[in-house]
Amino acid sequence: APVLDVAWALRFVALAAQEVAQQRVELSELDRAIGDGDHGENLARGFGAVTAALEKADPATVGAVLKLVATTLMSTVGGAAGPLYGTAFLRAAKVSDAPTIDAQGVVSLIDAALEGVVSRGRAKVGDKTMVDAWHPALEAASRAADDGDPPAAVLARAAEAAEAGAAATDDLVALKGRASYLGERSRGHRDPGAASSALLLRAAARAVTP
Ligand code: ADP
Ligand code: MG
Ligand code: MG
Repeated sequence: APVLDVAWALRFVALAAQEVAQQRVELSELDRAIGDGDHGENLARGFGAVTAALEKADPATVGAVLKLVATTLMSTVGGAAGPLYGTAFLRAAKVSDAPTIDAQGVVSLIDAALEGVVSRGRAKVGDKTMVDAWHPALEAASRAADDGDPPAAVLARAAEAAEAGAAATDDLVALKGRASYLGERSRGHRDPGAASSALLLRAAARAVTP
C-alpha cells in the first residue's frame, strides 16, 4: 500500500505548485469578483518561492517539508492568504514528526491546518472563507479514518469534501476578509481561498500515487 512519507510530501508540494501555476488566472478571477484580484498571483508567487527553497534544502521528514512551505509562504504571499496558509502549514508541520503518516495522522494534519486558519482569521463555518473548504474536509477525513480507510482514501475523501465545500460558498454572503465589504453582493461568487484550499487538498490526495 502507498505510504505517506517525505517523498509523498515533496510530490504534494510539487503538484500543488504546478496546479497553483495552472489555476493562477482562474483564482485571481474569482478574487476579482469579490476581492482585489490577486489571490492567484499571491499563491503562484508563494509556491514558486517554495519550489526554489526546496531545491536548496533537503528536508528529511514530512514535518520539515511542511515547515519550509509555511515559512516560505509567510514571507512571500502577503495579503490575507499568506499568514492564513503559513499558520495552517506550520501547525500541520508540528503534528507530522513521524516518518510516515497513517490514516489518523492525515486527520490530525487536516485538523491542525484548520486550527491554524481559525486561530489566525477567526472565521466560522458559513462565513464564506477557506474555512468552508477545510472544515468539511476534516469531517470527511475523520469519517473515513473511522471507517478504517487507508490514508490515501482518507485524503481523497477530504479533497472531495473540500471541493464540495468550496462550491457551496457560491451561495454564501461573505462575513470575513475583503469580500465582506461587498455584503449581499458577494453572493453568487465562489470564495477564492476556499477554491485554492480544495486545490491543495486535491494535490495532497493525488500525490499519494507517484
Ligand atoms: P487579500 O484578501 O488580502 O487580497 P488573498 O486574495 O490572497 O488576500 O486571499 C483571500 C482569501 O483569504 C479569501 O478568499 C478567504 O478564503 C481568505 N480569508 C480572508 N480572510 C479570512 C479569515 N478571516 N479567515 C479565513 N479565511 C480568510
Ligand atoms: Mg485578494
Ligand atoms: Mg490582496
